[in-house]
Amino acid sequence: MVSRVIPVDPFDLVIFGGTGDLARRKIFPGLFRRFCSGQMQEEARIIGAARSEMDDAGFREMIADAIREFGGGRACEDGTLEAFLNHVFYEQVDAMGTGGWEALKGRLRSGYVRAFYFSVGPSLFGALAERLRTFGLADDESRVVVEKPFGHDLATARALNKALAEHFDETQIYRIDHYLGKETVQNLMAVRFGNVLFEPLWNAQYVDHIQITVAETVGVGGRGEYYDKSGAMRDMVQNHLMQLLCLIAMEPPARFEPDAVRDEKLKVIRALEPVKPHHIVRGQYDADGDAPSYREDAGDTRSTTESFIAMKCHVSNWRWAGTPIYLRTGKKLRARASEIAVVFKDAPHSIFPEDAGRHRNILTIRLQPNEGMELGVTIKEPGPGGMRLLDVPLDMSFAEALGPDAEEAPDAYERLIMDVIRGNQTLFMRGDEVEAAWAWTDPIIEGWQARGEVPKPYDVGSSGPDDSLMLLHRDGRKWRDIRA
Ligand code: NAD
Repeated sequence: MVSRVIPVDPFDLVIFGGTGDLARRKIFPGLFRRFCSGQMQEEARIIGAARSEMDDAGFREMIADAIREFGGGRACEDGTLEAFLNHVFYEQVDAMGTGGWEALKGRLRSGYVRAFYFSVGPSLFGALAERLRTFGLADDESRVVVEKPFGHDLATARALNKALAEHFDETQIYRIDHYLGKETVQNLMAVRFGNVLFEPLWNAQYVDHIQITVAETVGVGGRGEYYDKSGAMRDMVQNHLMQLLCLIAMEPPARFEPDAVRDEKLKVIRALEPVKPHHIVRGQYDADGDAPSYREDAGDTRSTTESFIAMKCHVSNWRWAGTPIYLRTGKKLRARASEIAVVFKDAPHSIFPEDAGRHRNILTIRLQPNEGMELGVTIKEPGPGGMRLLDVPLDMSFAEALGPDAEEAPDAYERLIMDVIRGNQTLFMRGDEVEAAWAWTDPIIEGWQARGEVPKPYDVGSSGPDDSLMLLHRDGRKWRDIRA
């Protein structure tokens, strides 16, 4: 199957923080792959802007190295990298000062889509937004892309929203959550709203519960000190897991359009009940041989920040009353695996004998690795052994269904950047959504602090603290295995 690549309009894309880790690991390799696919037109320009002193040639060398190191894509032919680099430029700019802004302005052309990617710490967002206007680089058509973390709590998120809103309209602001750029996440919407099969069953009457797991094998490593100020709740739940929860739980939007989708997601966040303290389990990974414990990584032997969290959530509305949604995410777990599992209820009555066995239908949406979906269906075990039931997967792995194209499918960043150029905000978080998510998260974190709660230790390579298993066990349920 050959996928259609529709070129985007020619653009000037300025990447503030162009020499940084994110730009080198994700943004430039992603743009290069879009170039290889033919999605970027000849006139497109990407301008890196950062503090370091460098010329175009030096920056191109840096970007070439980054693309070689972090993935160029199979489809790229010899010579393509050199062709791509001709579209790349550099300007030294001080986000907090006045240096470099006039020169950067001189790089921009009129008549093209203009976008500014803030791949810098959030403390610079306000200063950048202000200077883009003061120096006349941005107009009412320009777009700005902002990275996570979007705030540390409700107050800081509000302040960021306010700082951006002073210079840009909400329709110009693209808040990135790269989970929303994943192929499977969009497929979730296609499956839910493009088929008649699922939506009639997508409610508390037929769904027993939902599990969302984002498990990592890496620890916090060198980012320990930074991570220790946020923890799993702020770093993963408030943004990525909540976004997944919204997409799985939302009502059908009237149209697949930015505000229609985001209105429905916002309603889900607002319908989330406060989580009871005993419905949350927090953990910190232990030392593993010579490998340091979380507290050693964090550089604080008394840290109470969690590297693991599991929680039971309720969306308080007609569709989901009584159906819990369990969230779980952590570091140094058994495998790198992210999935959403919709576990349907038992058939209301079994016509088969006791020993035939019983299986539940489970729809699994895998985000990584091997993006795809799988629906567990009960059938008869083949052979003459009488009526014994068997659970078999109806599997839709994208790699199999789409053939070699699947491997070349754009990764989340490149897809989202192309959406910015197209002016499509559907897969970006709106300011009120982010604030609502913090408004739900803040009291939970404040509760831990007020009660002086300390996370439970867990073994590296495990599924988290035992209490997390108990969270479901108490409800007569079981977490799905974490496996790659
Ligand atoms: P980094 O420290 O590697 O790079 C920071 C960049 O900002 C550099 O290019 C630096 O020159 C530039 N910069 C800093 N101060 C400046 C100033 N005063 N004027 C102009 N430029 C200045 O950071 P990073 O890891 O690339 O992260 C950038 C942003 O993306 C952060 O907000 C981070 O939280 C977010 N983010 C990063 C990752 C990742 O994997 N690295 C993932 C998700 C989100």
